[in-house]
Amino acid sequence: MDLTINISFDNSYIQVADTLFSRQLPTAVSQPDLIRINDALANFLSIDPAQLNTPAGIEVLAGNRIAEGSEPIATVYAAHQFGQWNPQLGDGRAILLGEVIGANGLRYDVQLKGSGPTPYSRGGDGRSPLGPVLREYIVSEAMYALGVPTTRSLAAVSSGDTVIREQGLPGAILTRVARSHIRIGTFQFFAAREDWDSVTRLADHVIARHYPDVLSAENPYLALLSAVIQAQAELIARWQSLGFIHGVMNTDNMLVGGETVDYGPCAFMDEYHAGRVYSSIDHNGRYAYGNQPAIAHWNLSWLAQSLLPLIHSDEETAVALVRAELDAFADIYQQYYECMMCQKIGLPVVSEKGNELVSELLALMQAHKMDFTLMFAGLADYLDKSGPAPDSVANLFSLPAELQAWLQEWQYYLQQQSGVGLIAIQQQMRTVNPVYIPRNHLIEEVIQAANSGDLVPFHRLVDRLAHPFDYSIDDQIYALPPRPEQEVARTFCGT
Ligand code: AMP
Ligand code: MG
Repeated sequence: MDLTINISFDNSYIQVADTLFSRQLPTAVSQPDLIRINDALANFLSIDPAQLNTPAGIEVLAGNRIAEGSEPIATVYAAHQFGQWNPQLGDGRAILLGEVIGANGLRYDVQLKGSGPTPYSRGGDGRSPLGPVLREYIVSEAMYALGVPTTRSLAAVSSGDTVIREQGLPGAILTRVARSHIRIGTFQFFAAREDWDSVTRLADHVIARHYPDVLSAENPYLALLSAVIQAQAELIARWQSLGFIHGVMNTDNMLVGGETVDYGPCAFMDEYHAGRVYSSIDHNGRYAYGNQPAIAHWNLSWLAQSLLPLIHSDEETAVALVRAELDAFADIYQQYYECMMCQKIGLPVVSEKGNELVSELLALMQAHKMDFTLMFAGLADYLDKSGPAPDSVANLFSLPAELQAWLQEWQYYLQQQSGVGLIAIQQQMRTVNPVYIPRNHLIEEVIQAANSGDLVPFHRLVDRLAHPFDYSIDDQIYALPPRPEQEVARTFCGT
């Protein structure tokens, strides 16, 4: 039997500086078994999914076998966690197997998560229960299908070992793929130690890998900061436009490449409320839905702080330069947000009236506890001449009488604006307002079934969420908000 697993590793991070990581092999598990392989993503990375789905391939995905060319490391970082400085963190339960080049010519990290202890485990077991692995697989792939920059899931395997949390739980390992895993906290780690050589090497690596255009700027490191600010402003606007709450926006959970990372206590809102909090460990609502843009800005100020000596040798000048960039965040974010929200109500161009209509709608949705996703998805159905059809999304919820006046004003404004006709608007709206999102109650049901050995609901949910904009009445169960008894008020880190 041929036991070769061909992955064309091309590792660059270990060349940047020895200070950035520790070499660390995964710790073998007792009985690896395949849960799922993401065939499309494997093919994109020039990895043969059929090869992964062999005993040798599954051993690679479990960390029991090291594929040729893989040079496993755990990376080091620091972070502000819930506003508190933590100078020493790192991959405590994740191991970077190496980097590969995707079909688009870009570089990707291939990382195991839940693969055993590392020098950064701080007494933790380096493992992950099955539930959080399935949650991350489901949500990251759903985010991808929704068009949100995100880390992705290449595979999930069960370990055959028990992971001890409040109770014994089946263990699992996720294979995560990211444009890179370099965090704001990675910069913070070296800046806090005044190791400017490492900060410079890291910054040069990030520029080459993520933002090569900034090299032509007058001040490339300032332009790097500006590029990360742009990417984060767009990312957070996209979260807001979908009702996504990350839950733990610590500076180690913000990637400088602009992808969403670490799907722990995250959630898509059901009922709309600007103050919605999900995470059970977020006691003060620091990471509430409505706070996400301000938190992103705060986190970016720590990236700026970490880059100061690279930006200018005179500290005052450097501070003035980064302040100007940071001050631009609010406007950049607002532009992205308004653009995305106006599109959600069928307006291809932002206007004052459009923004007003969005604000009024959100206020009405909050007052009447409307489901965020269904309300926006159903809106297009109200453009049908005779009102929503019986098999439409709009029929999945009832519209409070108080929304009628808004609806009329909106329709009137659309008709005035539109050069393209209502049918075209309706079609455009259906490309930006998803029907299917990874609702927490669905994820919980999947995890419960999986914990008792049934993975069919997991596979069904992943398949359904791969096409979030295509409503089918046969799959309405995946579109509906939770019944009161299904509601998940809090999500847990599951670490
Ligand atoms: P997270 O909340 O997942 O972003 O994790 C915060 C930090 O704790 C990271 O440095 C993780 O690597 C580490 N960590 C989380 N869970 C574990 C675990 N079970 N064992 C070791 N380290 C962990
Ligand atoms: Mg993290």
